[in-house]
Amino acid sequence: KPLVFSGVQPTGNLHLGNYLGAIKKFVALQEQSDCIYCVVDLHSLTAQLVHQDLGDQTRSITAAFLASGIDPKKHIVFNQSRVMQHAELAWIFNCVARIGWMYRMTQFKDKAGKDRENASLGLLAYPSLMAADILLYRATHVPVGEDQKQHLELTRDIAQKFNNDFSEKIAALGVGVEMQVGEETVNGYFPITEPVIGGPAARIMSLRDGSKKMSKSDPSDLSRINLTDDADTISKKIRKAKTDPEPLPSELDGLESRPEAENLVGIYAGLAEISKADVLKEYGGQQFSVFKPALADLAVEKLAPIASEMRRIEGDRAYVDAVLKDGGERARAIAEGTMKTVRDIIGLLQD
Ligand code: ATP
Ligand code: MG
Repeated sequence: KPLVFSGVQPTGNLHLGNYLGAIKKFVALQEQSDCIYCVVDLHSLTAQLVHQDLGDQTRSITAAFLASGIDPKKHIVFNQSRVMQHAELAWIFNCVARIGWMYRMTQFKDKAGKDRENASLGLLAYPSLMAADILLYRATHVPVGEDQKQHLELTRDIAQKFNNDFSEKIAALGVGVEMQVGEETVNGYFPITEPVIGGPAARIMSLRDGSKKMSKSDPSDLSRINLTDDADTISKKIRKAKTDPEPLPSELDGLESRPEAENLVGIYAGLAEISKADVLKEYGGQQFSVFKPALADLAVEKLAPIASEMRRIEGDRAYVDAVLKDGGERARAIAEGTMKTVRDIIGLLQD
């Protein structure tokens, strides 16, 4: 049975990109897999150490998971810092991974900006902690947005290097498993994780700038549609979204070099659960003055029930805290099992 892991940082308001690119997939994967969904609070410290309300942000992401339909009884929902094994395995992976691997990450380059020497060491090591999150549960599948693809490739590299570096010890302890990686059959302790990326909404762009992804941490609120925006705000943001003056094309290749138009079509497709080509079948030849209100109505129809359920759940803080505590306990039990083996593989003495 596949084991799914993914995480969301408590860095601000969840937006349509997080929902369509990640959370909607989390919900769908629950049917056939065991899933672990984590609010990655330790990750949120990499960009900004001091947060006004880290606890409430963490609860709010948890409420969004639950409101979207994640079942915390059948699956596991918790916040990362509760399970200290994440930090422990990340340290080991800091010593497996090479500094050069980290410097090549586009997220590091984007988030560190020009003053790279002044970025936190944590921001550089972010992918190492992410690999630990995933491999601690020996997850096989990780649903994420397109922006995390490079980090998942690094996770595979870390797993592979660990498996190679310790191959003799893994064999001696008898803790390796055979797995199929592409054409090859390899043996190792950590699985080579498959990314689950795709569909029309894997990379939702900013509503203000078709070359930047929609982000929680973008200073402009007009750049994103928050899950909790009310109907008027959603309509206003879509109305103000940057576009070109041409009507929508009828064919997909007509969207090439029209990133803003392509983005709005992708959002529609993601919300309606159809392909971009099908959106164009319906709206090809139409002006944005027709398409934008239709998109706004669809967004309100899909998001309003989640937002109101989210508010209801957020109001019951004791329930949210109980979910995180229970999820944390169950996650910790799995994580400690992995770490016991990892400590043995490495040769660290333990009780
Ligand atoms: P931040 O700006 O703080 O990094 P974020 O919006 O990128 O915030 P994350 O918590 O880093 O959010 O990512 C949570 C999940 O949402 C990840 O799987 C990520 O790939 C996905 N995601 C983020 N932005 C988008 C987007 N614009 N389109 C599709 N998926 C996205
Ligand atoms: Mg991000």
